[in-house]
Amino acid sequence: MKVIGLLGGMSWESTVYYYQELNRGVRARLGGLHSARCVLHSVDFAEVERMQEEGDWVEAGKYLGQRAHQLELAGADCVLICTNTMHRVYPAIQEGLGVPVLHIADGTADALERAGVERVALLGTRYTMEQDFYRDRLTSRGFDVLIPEPEERDRVHKIIYHELCLGHVVDSSRDTYIRIVEGLAARGAQAVILGCTEIGLLIDENTSPLPVFDTTLIHVQSALDWALRS
Ligand code: GLU
Repeated sequence: MKVIGLLGGMSWESTVYYYQELNRGVRARLGGLHSARCVLHSVDFAEVERMQEEGDWVEAGKYLGQRAHQLELAGADCVLICTNTMHRVYPAIQEGLGVPVLHIADGTADALERAGVERVALLGTRYTMEQDFYRDRLTSRGFDVLIPEPEERDRVHKIIYHELCLGHVVDSSRDTYIRIVEGLAARGAQAVILGCTEIGLLIDENTSPLPVFDTTLIHVQSALDWALRS
């Protein structure tokens, strides 16, 4: 089993799930007392959020690049950036490493392909929904990606930062997300990508009007496939 490096803390509310699901996944695949070999570098999210807000992606790339390098020095054979948004600086992080960074959108694209989805809705932070770095990774694989209307995007974004990243799961916000997904379904989406690692706290396949592709769970499965392949 290879060692999985987790660049986490963005937010720690979802990093908890990465750790839990990695270990559950190893137990499911190997049985007995087997558990995941992993190392975690958990950042202070307030520092990262400030760089996002200021649009200082160069600094953010350096900041996370240094921490990813520390994971490599600590024995990581691969690195997971435990947030969709900070894949904005994926090239800067990968560039400074001798081990692969497993891109969260690649595993998601593989899962969509297997399910035969062509037109997919994307929920995430404003950065993930509106900038090119994430959607391009999907459209280059042939998917048609739909995002919510501007006012809806604002609500999706604020619920992530003001509630989910603080561990608050609010029923009225779940209703808001469900209504927004209904709108995207009406526009032709066949499924929805939970493209923020905390959204799974709020909606899942039981509550969503469309089939969900939860990037946290998908990222974990991709890492397990990689770490346990013979
Ligand atoms: N965890 C979130 C994501 O997957 C948002 C927090 C962040 O901005 O990193 O995008």
